[in-house]
Amino acid sequence: MVNVASDTFFEATAVARPDRPALRTDLDCEVVVVGGGLAGLWTALALARRGRDVAVVEAGRIGAGASGRNAGVVSAGYAEIPSRILSRVGEDHARTLWQLSAAGAEAVRGLIAETGMPGVDPAGVDPAPGRLIAFRAAGESVAARVAERMTRWGTRAEAWPRAQVREVLRSARYHAALHMPEAFQIHPLNFVLGLAAAVEAAGGRIYESTPVQAGDVAGVRKAIETPQARLRAHEVVFCGSAGIGGAFPALGRCILPVASHIGVSAPLGERLDSAIRFAGAVSDTRQGGDHYRIIGDRLLWGGGLTTRTSPPARLDRLIAADIAAVYPQLGPVEITHAWRGVIGYPVHRMPQIGRLGPGLWIASAFGGQGIAPTAIAGELVASAILDGDDRWRLFIPFGLVPATGVFGGFATQLAFWSRRLHDRLDEALIGRAEQQDAAGAAKVPPPESPPPEMVPPEILVPESPTLQSPPEPPAAPVEDVAAARSA
Ligand SMILES: Cc1cc2nc3c(=O)[nH]c(=O)nc-3n(C[C@H](O)[C@H](O)[C@H](O)COP(=O)(O)OP(=O)(O)OC[C@H]3O[C@@H](n4cnc5c(N)ncnc54)[C@H](O)[C@@H]3O)c2cc1C
Repeated sequence: MVNVASDTFFEATAVARPDRPALRTDLDCEVVVVGGGLAGLWTALALARRGRDVAVVEAGRIGAGASGRNAGVVSAGYAEIPSRILSRVGEDHARTLWQLSAAGAEAVRGLIAETGMPGVDPAGVDPAPGRLIAFRAAGESVAARVAERMTRWGTRAEAWPRAQVREVLRSARYHAALHMPEAFQIHPLNFVLGLAAAVEAAGGRIYESTPVQAGDVAGVRKAIETPQARLRAHEVVFCGSAGIGGAFPALGRCILPVASHIGVSAPLGERLDSAIRFAGAVSDTRQGGDHYRIIGDRLLWGGGLTTRTSPPARLDRLIAADIAAVYPQLGPVEITHAWRGVIGYPVHRMPQIGRLGPGLWIASAFGGQGIAPTAIAGELVASAILDGDDRWRLFIPFGLVPATGVFGGFATQLAFWSRRLHDRLDEALIGRAEQQDAAGAAKVPPPESPPPEMVPPEILVPESPTLQSPPEPPAAPVEDVAAARSA
């Protein structure tokens, strides 16, 4: 039976977890982390392992947010496409950012190996089956260019021509692909639970069912209010992602809650082989396009990006229709689990990582690709608190930018629609070119621009960082960042 709202496949297959208490008595500690998703837990782990007294307060249960509800694909990169990062900050800076994300992916792999956390599927980690970014429109030369850039930045990647793609993805939809062999897949919820256990093993405290309602964060000693108790600490790290706005509206205005969905099919047995012969993860190049992978003999299928966060009726049918459109040879596919997750998106699609003011830090807004970047965000924030490490300054060009409000949300949805229309036009052109090819007519060249991956929306809000509260804006010229790095 499908339970769209709450019964995720990963919840249904989660390892046993402890019931963690709510905070009931006032607590003094060194660092409070608001939010028990990947970002909060990685930050807490890095601090606790280096002897800091850290408490994580989570509104619901650990992994209740996107961190426990995602598709579990771990790969280098950010929600923003590399070419846009590059044009914003230049080659050296973009390469350093990329390499940080790759280090995040390695941190995930390393923690799984080190702790032996259960149920995460280490078999899928080593050797990694990789990831294919399948092009529905742009051609091989674009894939080759992107592969060349990734290789230059230290991540193995190769362009696959159409014939090679269609050997493993038996769909007429795909025209080339980018293969990233180092990417791997995890059970996302079990990973979050393993990460939480590692935090506690290192001495960190975690409180569930403890929503932060407000905070007095201006003074040296910060006070964080929860329903039954108050926390006091010198440092506060905001890791609440899309949910942070209720308690801290200024931060909430800089992040847009965007929903994406996932379904998992009933076992498909040998039928799967007629469609997909690739053991890794697949995503296409459209805005909010399809992404999928095989789990056992089931098919996990995700997609969609919408500012409407409530689940539509019969999400399972929508997902089954998406699968049929790409792989009609599978016949009717029953979806046994279907759910939505809410992703925190910033305007620039790059995470908000860094210092907001004295004793105030943020690791948030990771968008649709957060598993690897959250790992490195936690390390950057922790090492900044502990050692004054200022690598977080690399993220200053992607400061806090207002993203919500009536116009922010509407503009984003408009941009999603316009992007989708653009994708469809590209695909129609490709389809026409293929028909003409088949008829032996002159070939219509497929459009090769814009570049692949998930091309971001043009969000119609000002780009200047305007963090109003907490007080210190994180904006600084790019030159400062370069100076900080070379120091
Ligand atoms: C459907 C879907 C598929 C995805 N697939 C992938 C994928 O395959 N690979 C990938 O890399 N990324 C993927 N992502 C993105 C990834 O899941 C996120 O980027 C990542 O989990 C963000 O982690 P986070 O800790 O910032 O946010 P969250 O996991 O949302 O954690 C924030 C936590 O803060 C808590 N919180 C909020 N406000 C408060 C408050 N006031 N007091 C206390 N607690 C609070 C929330 O309850 C929540 O648990 C996907 C996301 C979705 C939704």
